[in-house]
Amino acid sequence: MFTLPPLPYANSAFGDLISSETFDYHHGKHHKAYVDKANKLVADDKALAGKSLVELIRSSSGGLFNQVGQIWNHSFYWQCLSPDAKAPSGKLAAMISDQFGTLADLLAKLKDEATGHFGSGWTALLLDGDKLKVKSYHDADCPVKHGDTPLLILDVWEHAYYIDYRNDRAAHIEAILNKAIDWDFVALNLDGKGAERADQKG
Ligand code: FE
Repeated sequence: MFTLPPLPYANSAFGDLISSETFDYHHGKHHKAYVDKANKLVADDKALAGKSLVELIRSSSGGLFNQVGQIWNHSFYWQCLSPDAKAPSGKLAAMISDQFGTLADLLAKLKDEATGHFGSGWTALLLDGDKLKVKSYHDADCPVKHGDTPLLILDVWEHAYYIDYRNDRAAHIEAILNKAIDWDFVALNLDGKGAERADQKG
């Protein structure tokens, strides 16, 4: 059985930036529903028992893929946020300045991509070879499905921001990019050490 991973912070930790009500719905209802539906689909098909989330993402399509992709995306997304956000440092900071100029330039690119993405989905910062790359995914699509290496993902589904920001996706994205990204976790993914936190056995 898959489980709903606990948030790595209190659901009130971000104040008005991301309200506890948003976490109650986004984590406690939306993410939980993906877990519950995946468990039901896996329970109905013995061939799927014991497979990890990543194994199911790679091998499934349709309804099951939508659930397991969303479990992975959300599990990774919570880790990308921190109420004590500090600026990038070390190797990551050097990569950002080499490729984008300043952190503000990278954040502007991420904001444009996330705000311009049509409909539901995810905007990611990936490691592509030895370069950083910005890419979006529709609906439940997941970097793992494509063999991509995500460093950071942003949830652009309306359920991520509608309670606090109504229809203003740009304001939500700008707020979390500037105040709530866990750049230490992003840097951990340069060595592939963070993504394993989002996998789990069924
Ligand atoms: Fe979401």
